[in-house]
Amino acid sequence: MGERLNILIRRFVDYTNQEQYNKRIQNILSIGINYMTESEHDIALEDTDRIKGHAALVNNVKAAVALAGAVRSTLGPRGLDKMLVEEGGSTIVTNDGVTVLENAKVEHPTAQLLISTSSSQDKSARDGTTTTVLLMAEILQNSLELVRMGIHPTVIINGYRIALEESILELSNISKEISEDISEYAIVSTSLAGKIESSVTSMLTNYAIEAANILSSEEGGEDLERLRVKRLQVGNGGIKDSKLIHGLVLPKSRLDLETLAFSNGGKIAIIDGGLENKKIDMDASIEITGIGSLKEFHNRDLEKIKILVEHLKSFDIDLLIVRDGVADDAITPLKNAGITTYRRLERRDLELLSKMTGANPVRNPLNLKFEDIGNYTKRAEKLISDVKHTTIEGDIGGGMTFVIRGSSPEIRNEMKRAFDDALGVAHRLKRNPSILPGGGATHIHLARHLRIFATSQSGREQLAIEAYAAALEIIPRVLAENCGMDPIDAILSLSAAQNNQLEDGPWIGLDVQSGKNINMIDAGILDPLFVAKHALTGATEAAINVLRIDDVLWAKQEAQTPDWQNELTEED
Ligand code: ADP
Ligand code: MG
Repeated sequence: MGERLNILIRRFVDYTNQEQYNKRIQNILSIGINYMTESEHDIALEDTDRIKGHAALVNNVKAAVALAGAVRSTLGPRGLDKMLVEEGGSTIVTNDGVTVLENAKVEHPTAQLLISTSSSQDKSARDGTTTTVLLMAEILQNSLELVRMGIHPTVIINGYRIALEESILELSNISKEISEDISEYAIVSTSLAGKIESSVTSMLTNYAIEAANILSSEEGGEDLERLRVKRLQVGNGGIKDSKLIHGLVLPKSRLDLETLAFSNGGKIAIIDGGLENKKIDMDASIEITGIGSLKEFHNRDLEKIKILVEHLKSFDIDLLIVRDGVADDAITPLKNAGITTYRRLERRDLELLSKMTGANPVRNPLNLKFEDIGNYTKRAEKLISDVKHTTIEGDIGGGMTFVIRGSSPEIRNEMKRAFDDALGVAHRLKRNPSILPGGGATHIHLARHLRIFATSQSGREQLAIEAYAAALEIIPRVLAENCGMDPIDAILSLSAAQNNQLEDGPWIGLDVQSGKNINMIDAGILDPLFVAKHALTGATEAAINVLRIDDVLWAKQEAQTPDWQNELTEED
């Protein structure tokens, strides 16, 4: 039984989806406990450490707060970087909350829930990951106060649900659309603030917007930006040499240098396999009876290759892309047929080429049909960092490559993460062009709004809504803290500044570069509505899930949270 509980406990943390998650928790509790008598409980839980009720909540909140503490100092453009050192000694230097968390080796179920909430924010909105974590931890921290005052978690949860709903409404109320004053540029560059050297922010922002513009006419979902824009890292060079190239860039040259290096377009076929003869296992398959038999075998192979090349030639293609190898014997016949060949490509490249050119990848070249042939518009080879690279452009929609330069893999990876975020935001903005003020303005406004709204609730939920409002202030507080300002003074002066501004009050935020409270449109510090909405919803729902737990069962054989448990016994 202990083993069974152990498996269930370890698994339930993977569920970020609220319903599944709740069901999982119920399962854990009901399978193990509910249908048993007291004495059975004791036997079942023999191998299990158990933390119940208030202690469980305290333990869970501590885990969340501790983890949030790890990313707190990265928030905002003045946030500091973290250096993550892997067991093998490799390092990552990053300012990105979700990268820190995903690389953290924590096993506490609440901590893991927090990490998966942040990952989900990263996947859906591409930005706002640190914000999500800070909000969730702060909401939980404030819940603890309420529980200590004697308010039942169910009431707190109700209050939080009301507060979330009201907040989402208010976010839409104060949001504005992209316009002449509110440029995409400001929004995308805000998402990059502090993520990367400021000298490349404008370059990355421009490339991200350029790519998003091209993708905006494409059919497809949010993952279009991942599928249609390849990220290619090339060693050497400075990060400023990074470039967005139209078309697919392959880090290789053509198979036969006697074929053409350049083309202004033509027909392309893609083989999702090899152009090789099956390797013959000499021992097992053929009995060599004389000198002639091996030669005869070879001749038969050559004959097969000839038929194959003839078949390819019949489609009038001049570009052949092969995922696996190409037999040496095929090289000359292909050249003679006027076909330039590239071999050993990654499947992702194949897929992108297929989308760009309309060519269908075919496993067996003999099965190739006319409808599988695509068109490309340009092919060229060029040296990048002393390595031959080939660019192929298609005639259908967008297909791009962001060539990332940089002297070390760490620098290139950080550059890649920054570009991913910028493009993710730019791409999603095309579909959701509503904007909110950054610099803590949105959160201060929501807090002020919710405090007034709370008084409309007669029940104890009122207290939960107030606690929720206070939790939202964590964002401006940490932004101020990270630029060396006094967080309490910063929040008070920002609230007053918003209050004193009759029009556009909610748009007054803290510019951490100048330390001033100004209109965020003028400062160009703007966050997309979808990022803020997703962060608030994700953080609230994750916090509610934690509040629901009043029983945590730890398999004894796994010393999963000695730190937090020790702290717990010291204090409670
Ligand atoms: P996240 O992972 O949550 O996106 P970031 O480190 O990217 O965390 O910080 C984002 C926050 O920083 C947003 O609230 C944004 O409004 C704010 N921000 C960006 N630039 C500025 C600035 N110049 N002044 C104040 N706040 C800023
Ligand atoms: Mg960000």
